[in-house]
Amino acid sequence: MKQYDYLIIGSGLYGAVCAYRAKAAGKKVLVIDKRNHLGGNVFCENVEGINVHKYGAHIFHTSNKEVWAFVNQFVEFNRYTNSPVANFRGKLYNLPFNMNTFYALWGVTAPQEAQAKIAEQRNEAGIVNPQNLEEQAISLAGKDIYETLIKGYTEKQWGRKCSELPAFIIKRLPVRFTFDNNYFNDMYQGIPIGGYNILINKLLAGIETKTDTNFFENRTFFETLAEKIIFTGAIDEFYGFRFGKLEYRTIRFETQTLDCENFQGNAVVNYTEREVPYTRIIEHKHFEFGTQPKTIISREYSSEWTAGSEPFYPVNDDKNNALYAKYQQLAKQEQNVIFGGRLAEYKYYDMDKITEQALKAEI
Ligand code: UDP
Repeated sequence: MKQYDYLIIGSGLYGAVCAYRAKAAGKKVLVIDKRNHLGGNVFCENVEGINVHKYGAHIFHTSNKEVWAFVNQFVEFNRYTNSPVANFRGKLYNLPFNMNTFYALWGVTAPQEAQAKIAEQRNEAGIVNPQNLEEQAISLAGKDIYETLIKGYTEKQWGRKCSELPAFIIKRLPVRFTFDNNYFNDMYQGIPIGGYNILINKLLAGIETKTDTNFFENRTFFETLAEKIIFTGAIDEFYGFRFGKLEYRTIRFETQTLDCENFQGNAVVNYTEREVPYTRIIEHKHFEFGTQPKTIISREYSSEWTAGSEPFYPVNDDKNNALYAKYQQLAKQEQNVIFGGRLAEYKYYDMDKITEQALKAEI
């Protein structure tokens, strides 16, 4: 008999939902996290009464009723709707690409005119079967949108040419012919009132947790502790990088407290030109309609992940996907290890999909 039924490595959303389910099933669980706090990348830090999304903006959105009901048991969500604004050379455009964007760009006022403009640009480019992000973007939204709102941002974000990136990344963004600035198409959306820590703390209530605890620093010990492991860290690290390192993008957040009430009037402003070194500025208070006297902003600088920095985005190009497939083969042979989440599955997951996967995990 081992001390625990489950050792869960990583206390982000995947780990926390699994821990909750395991406890509910009567299992004895230990959750460890190498950081000095729980919650992984959804962790918020309260500064000046504002919940700062420490690891980048997290907006919960889903079309899955079960997932929405699940998270709403633990915390109430506000009515925040993500409507980012893009700044290109000082001019502002609404996102996602919609009639407001097309009006600002071309002066068109009717959907038919916008559709005709895009069709004309698509035909000029002559793309039949888009093979990469550049081709996909042009065929979805036309060349002007691509050059103004996509190319510079994407190349900063990914450090790769749009022609070398997978098409699916840009399919995350809707293109609409209505005056609707909602970034997501999902039925449900919001930010937990009081921040994500409430959700995580409730999921982990009554469960033994240890922060500042790195699995890899004491692997042999931890492997003997529990019948089963749920691993949410990087899969290549789990296997000692034996086939080589997977690539990730990391973000450096330059966070400032400003002595003003409202800096940019919106939670998210993207800077889509290549020459501005950051991709976007997040003004955290607007996620919760804050009225505090001060404000906190974070500029996001994207770069290639190196050891010691945080891996945020998997680079799902062909080369990395092929490498991941090799690790996945090893993972499939494990009897007592479940791999889940962005890093362990090397997948550009959103929070709702992570929750959905964790609700399906065989616990
Ligand atoms: N994107 C873009 N321009 C923008 C915002 C997004 O070209 O102003 C592209 C870019 O390639 C980015 C992708 O759309 O990587 C997905 O954007 P999303 O906002 O979903 O990224 P996340 O919030 O996950 O960083």
